Amino acid sequence: MKNYAKPLEKLIKELGKLPGIGGKSAQRLAFHILSLDEKSVDELADSIREAKAKMRYCPVCGNLTDREPCEICADETRDRNTICVVESPKDVFAMERIREYKGLYHVLHGAISPIDGIGPDDINLKSLIVRLQQGDAKEVILATNPTIEGEATAMYIARLIKPAGIKATRIAHGIPVGGDLEYTDEVTLLKAVEGRREI
Ligand SMILES: [Zn+2]
Repeated sequence: MKNYAKPLEKLIKELGKLPGIGGKSAQRLAFHILSLDEKSVDELADSIREAKAKMRYCPVCGNLTDREPCEICADETRDRNTICVVESPKDVFAMERIREYKGLYHVLHGAISPIDGIGPDDINLKSLIVRLQQGDAKEVILATNPTIEGEATAMYIARLIKPAGIKATRIAHGIPVGGDLEYTDEVTLLKAVEGRREI
């Protein structure tokens, strides 16, 4: 890369920091961007800036939104007795794709992982407890990923909420172990939700 001019080298370096973008892809994207006309490049740069400026986390559920509370939390037609707990906003989109789930969500922004030094206080868990104390939730569906961290987080939350008389269920397996909700197809995800068991 040392032969590239500085501005191009910088662009490749920044693109290479994006997840799933290796050195070759970063180069390809950089050359593609430079082949675009000025208007297209402005639109791309503006969309990044606008999304970053306008998108935030819902103060209630932690989902990504451009309004407060988010569209799902504000939707009076949704079932307020059920809260589906997921690790990331991407998982909310995966769940919404199956179109069967009509409850609310809570996004943890991570999972408990003692090895990485991530404890219960390091994820968006306190606000879930507050919601459960104040709201009408009767069931919490634990839809964290089927990884060691996701399972440990589900068990931790189940133990925490059970004394309050709230039902804790875990989505069924069928999602490949170690896999992510966001990469699970709709049918498998629907079956996993339908086959959830109380833990
Ligand atoms: Zn929300």
